[in-house]
Amino acid sequence: MKKNKVLIVYTGGTIGMVQDENGSLHPFALDRIYDAVPQLKACSYDIDSVTLKDIIDSSDMTPPLWVEIAEAIEKEYDNYDGFVVLHGTDTMAYTASALSFMFKNQAKPIVLTGSQLPLGMLRSDGRENIICALEIASTRLATIPEVCIFFENHLYRGNRSTKQSAENFDAFETYNYPSLAKAGINISFREHLFLPMPTQPLVVRKRFDTRVAILKLFPGIGPDVVGAVLATPGLQGVIIETYGSGNAPTGRWFIDALDAAIRRGIIVMNVTQCKAGAVKMRQYAASCDMDRIGVVGAGDITIEAAVTKMMYLLGNYPDDKEHIKQRLSQSLRGEITE
Ligand code: ASP
Repeated sequence: MKKNKVLIVYTGGTIGMVQDENGSLHPFALDRIYDAVPQLKACSYDIDSVTLKDIIDSSDMTPPLWVEIAEAIEKEYDNYDGFVVLHGTDTMAYTASALSFMFKNQAKPIVLTGSQLPLGMLRSDGRENIICALEIASTRLATIPEVCIFFENHLYRGNRSTKQSAENFDAFETYNYPSLAKAGINISFREHLFLPMPTQPLVVRKRFDTRVAILKLFPGIGPDVVGAVLATPGLQGVIIETYGSGNAPTGRWFIDALDAAIRRGIIVMNVTQCKAGAVKMRQYAASCDMDRIGVVGAGDITIEAAVTKMMYLLGNYPDDKEHIKQRLSQSLRGEITE
């Protein structure tokens, strides 16, 4: 039988580092991956790789680099059965979310992974992560038509994921959605949780509008801070990180500031600061005024998915604010529970 084929897209991050004789960490060239993970020589699928123009720490990730990753996959989409993106953990959940919105009608797995310790270190979690991510991207047992993150035995929906630990090997979690697969002795796939297989051909949309802001509420926040954010020149969209099930200060100054921004055409989205659970507009009086003035409640979306979705929708539907508002409260790629 013909072997399945996986393409690795290498972007950088801790996983791609090896220690030199003095103990310092350096990015390694991906053609040395077989030295770092010799087990891959025995795998039952073919692996090819491409590397981004610049290998980065993922704290330098940007929307143009999301486009570079997407184009690397799009160019080879018909030639491979699945894709593994090696990525730093810090912004992995943002990249996974952004890619999920870019790839409409995706029928093949795109699995992001990385590690907390570099591949070149003895206790690295990278070997396990990369081997499992490749197994999942190449498997004939299940086809996952999604952008996912594989980390420490779990496969997560990418746009539901959050980096939750800077210390532990289980660095990711999807608080509002179960994991899509679990790696034990076997990898058990929970196919009933996958997005449906698309019936239409793939479309890759590459525009992002970065004129957005995240406004995190805290007790004591005042008109100066809120006013300064909302007065950002060119601002198109704001995500308010609210309390609990979507609550915010009820003072006139706050609602009036939001109301004026909405009247100027700025789209305002309500996302909870809580890791688990959802915004429920009007559950408390403290969200009724926001609902009345047109703030969009975005259910149980993560902040990573919210900001990338806002940039994606603003970039692709710049003249249709009503369409954007409608889409912000609905699931495009499984990022919101409906
Ligand atoms: N700072 C690193 C990065 O995100 C951390 C990691 O890869 O785990 O690129």
